[in-house]
Parts: sequence; structure tokens; C-alpha cells
Amino acid sequence: MSEDCLFCKIVKGEIPSEFLYEDDSFVVIKDINPAAPVHLLLLPKKHIRSNNDLQKEDGKIISDLFMVAKKMAKEQGVNESGYKLLFNVEKGGGQVIFHVHLHLIGGWKK
Ligand code: AMP
Ligand code: ZN
Repeated sequence: MSEDCLFCKIVKGEIPSEFLYEDDSFVVIKDINPAAPVHLLLLPKKHIRSNNDLQKEDGKIISDLFMVAKKMAKEQGVNESGYKLLFNVEKGGGQVIFHVHLHLIGGWKK
């Protein structure tokens, strides 16, 4: 937990947010400023600043994260049409919230 981290506050329920999915390790929310008809944020509950801070023991979190993405893509009906999975890494990579999260973006008209 990082005290000033928005996503830690969301994960802990300190900032109300609709969870589309939750388990022991993750929550999934809708992006507040969607870049596409489907734009979800997959948040590990563990506070990790960015991809640069991943440790070997975080490997399961990251592999499980992709399984959550697969499940959410199906639930959102974009698994067959296709979608993007995106990590922004640090400022130059467009990261503005420094708590690792995976964007799931899709649902464009064909
Ligand atoms: P990034 O640029 O990868 O750090 O992505 C941060 C994302 O969080 C942006 O796409 C924002 O629109 C989104 N965001 C910021 N605040 C909230 C919030 N309270 N609830 C949901 N999404 C948020
Ligand atoms: Zn955090």
C-alpha cells in the first residue's frame, strides 16, 4: 500500500468504484475516461509502482493478470473481435498513475 496512490485507495474501497471483477489479487474497474467503447483497468491489489519495479516473486501476479484479461475480454464480448492490452510505463510511456495496471481496450466498430 502506498498512502497517496489512487489505485490503492480504489482497491481498498476508500474511493467508491464499481468493481466488474474482484478476487484475492485483482480488481477490475472501468476507465473513467474511456479511449474506446470497452476500456477496463485491471489492477493488482499489490502496490507495484511500474513495470520497472517488478520483482521475480511478482511473476504469478503478472501471469494471472493476463488470465483475468482473457476472462474480462470474453465477458465484455470483445474476445473474438479483438482488443488491446497495454501497460504504460513511467512518465515517458504515458503512465500517470504509478500503480501497475493493465488497460484492456476494445469494442470498436468493424
Ligand atoms: P495510465 O496513463 O496508464 O497511468 O492510466 C491511468 C488511467 O486511469 C487513465 O486512463 C485514466 O483515465 C484512469 N483513471 C484515472 N482516475 C480514475 C478513476 N478514479 N477511476 C477509473 N479510472 C481512472
Ligand atoms: Zn497503489
